[in-house]
Amino acid sequence: MRLPIRLIPLLVLLPAIAGAQLGGRPSTLGLIRDARIAEAMRDLSPAELRRIDSTLVAFGTRHTMSDTLSPTRGIGAARRWIHAELAAAAAACAGCLRVEYDTGRAVVGRSPARPTVALWNVVAWLPGRDTSRVVVMGAHYDSCICSTDGMDAVSDAPGADDDGSGTAAVMALARVMGQRFPTGFDATVAFVLYTGEEQGLLGSTQFAERLAREGKRVVAAFTDDIIGNVVADDGRRDDRSVRVFAVDSLAIGGGELARYVWAVGARYQPRFEVLPVLRLDRLGRGGDHRPFVERGIPGLRFSERLENYKRQHLPTDSLADVDFDYVARVARLNLAAVAALAAAPDRPAQTAYARDRASGGQAFQIRWSPVAGAARYELLVRRTTDPTYTRIVDAGSDTSYLLDEQLDDVWVGVRAVGADGHRSLTTVVGAPGGPRLAPAARPR
Ligand SMILES: [Zn+2]
Repeated sequence: MRLPIRLIPLLVLLPAIAGAQLGGRPSTLGLIRDARIAEAMRDLSPAELRRIDSTLVAFGTRHTMSDTLSPTRGIGAARRWIHAELAAAAAACAGCLRVEYDTGRAVVGRSPARPTVALWNVVAWLPGRDTSRVVVMGAHYDSCICSTDGMDAVSDAPGADDDGSGTAAVMALARVMGQRFPTGFDATVAFVLYTGEEQGLLGSTQFAERLAREGKRVVAAFTDDIIGNVVADDGRRDDRSVRVFAVDSLAIGGGELARYVWAVGARYQPRFEVLPVLRLDRLGRGGDHRPFVERGIPGLRFSERLENYKRQHLPTDSLADVDFDYVARVARLNLAAVAALAAAPDRPAQTAYARDRASGGQAFQIRWSPVAGAARYELLVRRTTDPTYTRIVDAGSDTSYLLDEQLDDVWVGVRAVGADGHRSLTTVVGAPGGPRLAPAARPR
């Protein structure tokens, strides 16, 4: 069918307008605004976050090798309290959350004595319709004064920002999301409080290995790590933006995840800027998303815009310097990102492309593997130098589409759209090292 010639520019332009960056504003990538998610975000209160973090700090130290027997001091008391808080949240939503310890042992390679430590992550599962597909939302509850002595397990290590702030956010998220969505989403959500982060990401490595062993497909692994400082040592202040760190690997999809969170922020909390940084982490630093990325899973770290290096890993990382209004903004962004992803179908596992002969090679036939629960699919297009997608094409309910783009010159992502409008992450077509569909049979 041929369209009247004067309509064509308009039809081409409409999807571009829907997805483009206008006047420097970030793209919402056509994501819907789900009223239930927006309402749940309001339940995350600075007062609750402060209550949780102040209790964590009151355990004195949460060093991974600190006392485990005292009821009031050390990492044992801290993990038992975290477990009890999550169990209370589970009871309040009629058992919607499954709370457990994820335990194991690991050698602390960073210590000359190479001691073996017991690792106790605390996990609250919000089971979804599909229990084999998991969105991980984590933070580490252990603390240290590593800037003076990484193996000092006795002295006070308050860790109010690192990472009491992230731990408070994840515990509050588990409570609020359980309360608001007691029957869960399409995917399962794991709220995880890791131990052993300061000894080399030991707890998150253990959890990532366990999920792989159990055959779980991890949609994305988020970590909140230092999300409460708003004043830098030079006096600069920023409580209106947050950094998200992710490797822009086309095959794994880290950059796709960063663009998704960027869009979620623009859709649900537009006055709080998401600053995507397309690298694994800050220079020379690490976080609990890393063990997942190393296993081929999209991982992303949320961190405050401005760090204060006079307090990190020191006895001065105190509660007074955590801004809980700011932590609440980050937690609301977390909630929207986790809920939107978990509510969506999976993304296509594999893609393929073929140059279209009829167009003289100027169009491409794009194919992808079908996704359970997908009502339809969309193709997203960006120039290779664009930070995010600028064109969204409705590809209908089939698993192939003739795209009027020169695929040599752009990146194209395919995503699934659920019946209720939630969008999956994108799988990049023709990503080097990415999964490919088998070649199509020649058309007859
Ligand atoms: Zn940390």
